Amino acid sequence: MKRIDAILFDMDGVLIDARHLHYEALNAALGPFGLEISHDAHLANFDGLSTRQKLAILSETRGLPAGLHGLINELKQKFTLAKIPTHCRPVFHHRYLLSRLTQDGYRLALCSNSVRRTVDEMIRSADLDSFFELTLSNEDIRSPKPHPEIYLEAAKRMQVQPDRCLVVEDNVNGIRSATAAGMHVIEVADPDAVTYDRVASALEAIARGAAP
Ligand SMILES: [Mg+2]
Repeated sequence: MKRIDAILFDMDGVLIDARHLHYEALNAALGPFGLEISHDAHLANFDGLSTRQKLAILSETRGLPAGLHGLINELKQKFTLAKIPTHCRPVFHHRYLLSRLTQDGYRLALCSNSVRRTVDEMIRSADLDSFFELTLSNEDIRSPKPHPEIYLEAAKRMQVQPDRCLVVEDNVNGIRSATAAGMHVIEVADPDAVTYDRVASALEAIARGAAP
């Protein structure tokens, strides 16, 4: 018995490995102003935050003038977009996963905390755009994850019940968002772990009533 109608994917850390890209782009934007974030500090304190949140931390802890936030943010987005064609390449097991799920009759959507242009360019560069009937960016909602709005909005637009949606997420804010939306969730460690077998076994466990 199939109990899931739609599968909703987070993007960064799930279908796109963008942590290093965001780290490099931010440092490229900070360089002209004499600032640099170490790789360890980025992983520990900045990963998963928006650029604006990262810049606010740098103003508090490293004295970055707030008047530079707009310019650095623009530069960071520009460097991110420039790096997408080389960093976001098609991955066979992701294309296989989305293609098999579509064949199996599931409807697919993408819900990301990134800005619209980054979402569009990343999934196009990874050759995943044709699989999704809906993509939502942080510009399509008011409250980003961990708030449940983005997942509830996807369910509403697709006209599916939240409890018939399965979400694939890689971090605590995303899991909180999906759980608060009343959806089933699987947590993956990184994009390598996002395989058809992993998702199919979660679907099977839900059908048996053995999964949350
Ligand atoms: Mg993520």
